[in-house]
Amino acid sequence: MQGYLEQSNKTSLIFKIFVIFVLFILYLSSLYSYLLFHTLVEIFSICIAFTVFVLTWNSSGYIKNNYLLLIGTAYLFIGVLDLFHFMSYKGMPIFWDYDYYANQIGLATQYLGGITWLISFFFLKKQNHINKYIIFAIYLLLTALILHSVFVSKIFPVCFVDGVGLTPFKIYSEYEICFIFTIAIYVLRRNRDVFDKKVYHYLNWSMIFTILSDLCFTRYASIYGFTNMVGHYFKIFAFYFIYKAIIKNGILESYELILREFKMNEKILSEENEKFRNEAIIDGLTGLFNHRYLYDKLEEEKCRCERYQGTFSIIMLDIDHFKLVNDSFGHLAGDEIIKSIANMIKNHIRVTDIAGRYGGEEFLIILPETKLDSAVVVAEKIRMVAANTVFVHDVKLTVSGGVSEYQGEKVSDLVKSADHKLYTAKKNGRNRIEYE
Ligand code: GH3
Ligand code: MG
Ligand code: MG
Repeated sequence: MQGYLEQSNKTSLIFKIFVIFVLFILYLSSLYSYLLFHTLVEIFSICIAFTVFVLTWNSSGYIKNNYLLLIGTAYLFIGVLDLFHFMSYKGMPIFWDYDYYANQIGLATQYLGGITWLISFFFLKKQNHINKYIIFAIYLLLTALILHSVFVSKIFPVCFVDGVGLTPFKIYSEYEICFIFTIAIYVLRRNRDVFDKKVYHYLNWSMIFTILSDLCFTRYASIYGFTNMVGHYFKIFAFYFIYKAIIKNGILESYELILREFKMNEKILSEENEKFRNEAIIDGLTGLFNHRYLYDKLEEEKCRCERYQGTFSIIMLDIDHFKLVNDSFGHLAGDEIIKSIANMIKNHIRVTDIAGRYGGEEFLIILPETKLDSAVVVAEKIRMVAANTVFVHDVKLTVSGGVSEYQGEKVSDLVKSADHKLYTAKKNGRNRIEYE
């Protein structure tokens, strides 16, 4: 994560340097030819608009915010209209019949953008996802209507007259667009808690730059003039901030979401694994190791002793007359007592010792690095504690045991030996430990 952050900081610095470089190149281009400057600016804006659309469209599943979904989709059409704006700009050798299509298309695009920003707020708090295909279809239709009104039916009002400058329609429209954006900023501020903090700031800046660029567009006297140029710079900034908002909301957040889900799944998986592992080796009633695990451990101890010439001992314990307990107090009480004995064993062995439930009310304890006499001491301790304990229903009981030390025999023979001694203990009167 740290590496990723460092890398993303580095990338963001490189990106900032790149942006400054591009702005400088744009300025140089304006010194050479305003048409070149305008062409480059528009190409940049169109690229950003298309990128915003592609990002939005493809991460729509992650963009929980209807507002951004609508704006992001609308930007494809804003980009398309910008494309026509730049192709029809004065001096571009494409639409020869009329010089000022570009102003009309530019204005229509600004209207479309402004209205989009404003109506998007109506969808802001809608719980359901708005259908992106319907938005697409509506914008496609609006774009077609705009293009038709400018290029085909030519009913779009004139915006610029050579020698006279901007027409009142154009100037008032720009003020109107500024007004629309001012309301949009106001509504955005009122709803700021709906947005991620950064996304909110990006949107806010985008709108501010849109207003600034519109103000520039109300003032220019020549299509190739200085204020027109500044207006276009602001336009790039406005587009850039939209792009940042979509990136933050649609891409980074989806990554974070995926990462979070991934980590959660990993945690669940490791917990499940742990559970399965435990279930495979732990006895459900007592929490001691189970029969299979005891044998695995016995084999392991045998190998270890052979390798290092060490030794180990085992204790086999069995509760005396346990049938009587069951018969008198029921199996549930019997279970409780088995659990109590298990706890008693756990409390009287070393952490390196391994205690398990061998069968019904029989327990096996493996004591690594322990000679017979030390193992007998442990067994005696447990026997005495059991004999002095009062269990549920005031039950008093005893345990018997057999202790054997490993002598290089097979594991099963070692267990048999301890079992045999246990049998002897029973035969000799119970409540005793046999080891010879
Ligand atoms: P002794 O060992 O002293 O010869 O007499 P015992 O009555 O304990 O006889 P044995 O060990 O042969 O019998 C074990 C009894 O333990 C049989 C069964 O009813 C009871 N038992 C075994 N497993 C469980 C268990 O999980 N829960 C309960 N409640 N009882 C069990
Ligand atoms: Mg018994
Ligand atoms: Mg038994």
